[in-house]
Amino acid sequence: MRIIPGVHATLHHFRPHRLPWLLAGNGYLLCAALIVIAVHDTLPPGLLLAGLLLLLLNGLLGWLAITYLNRLRRQQLALLLEERATNRRLTEEIKERRALEARLRQMACTDALTGIANRRHFFELAEQELRRARRDGTPLAICMVDVDHFKRLNDRYGHAVGDEVLRQVAAGCRSVLRECDVLGRYGGEEFVIALPLTDLATAACVAERLRQRISTLALPQLGPETPLSVTVGVGELAKSETRLDDALLRADRALYAGKAAGRNRVVVAGLPPAGQPPRLAATLWRPELTTLLDGVPATAAAVQAAAVPAAEPPPDRF
Ligand code: GH3
Ligand code: MG
Ligand code: MG
Repeated sequence: MRIIPGVHATLHHFRPHRLPWLLAGNGYLLCAALIVIAVHDTLPPGLLLAGLLLLLLNGLLGWLAITYLNRLRRQQLALLLEERATNRRLTEEIKERRALEARLRQMACTDALTGIANRRHFFELAEQELRRARRDGTPLAICMVDVDHFKRLNDRYGHAVGDEVLRQVAAGCRSVLRECDVLGRYGGEEFVIALPLTDLATAACVAERLRQRISTLALPQLGPETPLSVTVGVGELAKSETRLDDALLRADRALYAGKAAGRNRVVVAGLPPAGQPPRLAATLWRPELTTLLDGVPATAAAVQAAAVPAAEPPPDRF
C-alpha cells in the first residue's frame, strides 16, 4: 500500500519533459534512504525492502524514460537530416531547372550554327530599337547581307565548309559592329543588321567596312579560285514609318539590285519621298532611288551623289 503513492509519483514523472524531476526525485529518495540507513542501525526489513523496491522502480522508470527520450531524439535528428537532404536536393533541382530554363531561352533566341540571334529574336530586338528610335526621334538603319555565290561554294567544298564560312561571316559581321547594333541570321546565307542612331550615309560606311572585312577573311579551306564576298543592301527607316517591314523591303531590294549589278558591293536604298504614307514601300521603290557604291568610298556625299540606276530585282522576291 505504501508503494502505490511512490509509483504514482514516479509515473507522474514518466514523461520525457519531466525527466529532470524524475532524476531529482530519484536522487532525493536515494539520499533519504542513505541517511535513514546511516541514522538507524537497523531498519525494519519490510520498510527497507519497500524503499529499495521503490528506488529500483524509480531507476527502472528513469532508464525507460531516457531510452524513450533517446529514441525520440534520434527520430527527431533523422527527420532533421532528411529535411536538410531534401532541402539540398530541392535547391540543386531549382538550380538545374534555372540553368535549363536559361539554356532553353538562349536556344530559342540563338541561331545554332552561327551563335548570333535567330530571325525571331532579331525582330524582337529590332522592334525595341524601332520603338526607341520613334520615341527619341533618332535614325535607324537596316542592312541586309547576302553571301555571294554561296551555293557554288557549297557544291565545291561541301556543306561542312559552307557552315564554317557562315560562322566566319557572322563573326566578321559582329567584329565591325558596335555592341548596340543588332545582328541576326535572316535565313540560309543571309544576315540582317539593325543599326540604331545611324543614318543612311553612316550605315553605308558601316556596310562598306563590313564588305571589306568579309572579302579579306582568310579562310584556309577556300582556294584562291573562290573569293569570299558579300553584297549588302542598306535602307533607313523613314520618319513616318512605325514598322520595320518597309525599311527591310527597301534594304532587300537594294541587295538584289547589288546582285544584279555584279555582287560584292554595297547598295543604298533611298528613303521614300517625304509626304508619302507608310506601308507603300513595295510600290514606292524605284531603281533610281538606289545608290550603288561600287568601289566608291561610302561617305555621305558618295551616297547622295552616286545615284546609279540599278536593274529591277527578280520579281519572285516581292
Ligand atoms: P547569290 O550570289 O545570288 O546569293 O547566290 P547564292 O548561291 O549565294 O544563293 P542561292 O540562294 O542560290 O543559294 C544559297 C545556298 O545556301 C543554297 C543552300 O544550300 C545554302 N544554304 C542555306 N543554308 C545553309 C546552311 O545552313 N549551311 C550551308 N552549308 N549551306 C546553306
Ligand atoms: Mg547568296
Ligand atoms: Mg540568299
